[in-house]
Amino acid sequence: NHALSSVDPEIAEVLKNELGRQRGTLEMIASENFVPRAVLQAQGSVLTNKYAEGYPGKRYYGGCEFVDVAENLARDRAKALFGAEHANVQPHAGAQANAAALMALATVGDTILGMELSHGGHLTHGMKLNFSGKNYQATAYGVDPTTYLVDMDVVREKALEHRPTVLIAGWSAYPRQLDFAAFRAIADEVGAKLWVDMAHFAGLVAAGLHPSPVPYADVVTSTVHKTLAGPRSGVILSKAEWAKKVDSAVFPGQQGGPLMHVIAAKATAFKLAGEPEFVDRQQRTISGAKIVAERLMGADTVAEGISVLTGGTDVHLVLVDLRNAKIDGKQAEDILHEVGITVNRNAIPFDPRPPMVTSGLRIGTPALATRGFGDEEFTEVADIIANALKPAPDVAALRARVLKLTDGYPLYDGLEGW
Ligand code: PLP
Repeated sequence: NHALSSVDPEIAEVLKNELGRQRGTLEMIASENFVPRAVLQAQGSVLTNKYAEGYPGKRYYGGCEFVDVAENLARDRAKALFGAEHANVQPHAGAQANAAALMALATVGDTILGMELSHGGHLTHGMKLNFSGKNYQATAYGVDPTTYLVDMDVVREKALEHRPTVLIAGWSAYPRQLDFAAFRAIADEVGAKLWVDMAHFAGLVAAGLHPSPVPYADVVTSTVHKTLAGPRSGVILSKAEWAKKVDSAVFPGQQGGPLMHVIAAKATAFKLAGEPEFVDRQQRTISGAKIVAERLMGADTVAEGISVLTGGTDVHLVLVDLRNAKIDGKQAEDILHEVGITVNRNAIPFDPRPPMVTSGLRIGTPALATRGFGDEEFTEVADIIANALKPAPDVAALRARVLKLTDGYPLYDGLEGW
């Protein structure tokens, strides 16, 4: 018997427990999702055995005739889905896509300008311990201290001051849309390349519910596993003129053999993202986030010092501001965990509390929308969260309400047989 449960019962137990956790809790980490079974199947396949350094038709290994089909499908579907001239589907993850993007657009030592990490930017946009901060002169713009929005006049001032080689637009924690045309105009004015990292909102873009950066940016990177609901991995889209540089930055620049099982799973995810069900799901995702934001701005929560940054959301996440609340980000994350809701604490701009504590929560709706939740269920979820964050919550009662929701929306039925 070669089943995992016989070969390695300890790891089989981890899989079983994790499946149980995913089923029995409400997953609201903004960067997570549940992949369809077809994606799991492609990813857990014999394609993991294949070495395929190079690109379709130009491999350094024999026997690539079938994996070439998978990679071509993934590339063509990514291009069609986003209207891009070129796609590279080999990045193992978002961070690798971003390293390759910078390698293609800039030279080590060049100046880059991205969003401040503590204001919602990403590590790979210039954090000092990351390759982006070590290899490039990283400069940053933040959000406005009163509106918490990116102010394009400030971005322009910073761009004129620092004259970056690459201007970066994109975020990990920001509840509104960016103005890509304005970023393009600033990039042109200062002679910079524009790189947009749409990792978080790519699914919304694919569904036509968020402006697309593709017409404006020289290079667009994304993860595939957030709102896009594909396998954990990355993708790079670009204008045709950047195709060669991007491809060579990924391989041999950053990576060796591509993960062909993951690339096949990406192809499947891009196919599904072009279907009407996907658009419906992204609509429920945004609508659910708006419902959570509205509820957390109710009189009872506001009285406890709880508020929502920018007064709402246009995307799949809500940033809860706990600076004036008794409860801090760590305590809020812990109490929601006890209730059965998984979120992450998140430093908010100008956060007075230390990074391990924080004064913020990032709450996302993509995974629950995938699970089937609509406005009615999100209204219940929002009320559970609001009550959990108030003083002395009735944890048992709230946990029971969570279990009613999870029981009503079964996840991966029959998958324990794997
Ligand atoms: N870019 C952004 C904007 C992200 O939010 C993330 C993930 O958190 C990444 C890149 C990195 O993706 P990965 O974790 O796959 O390396």
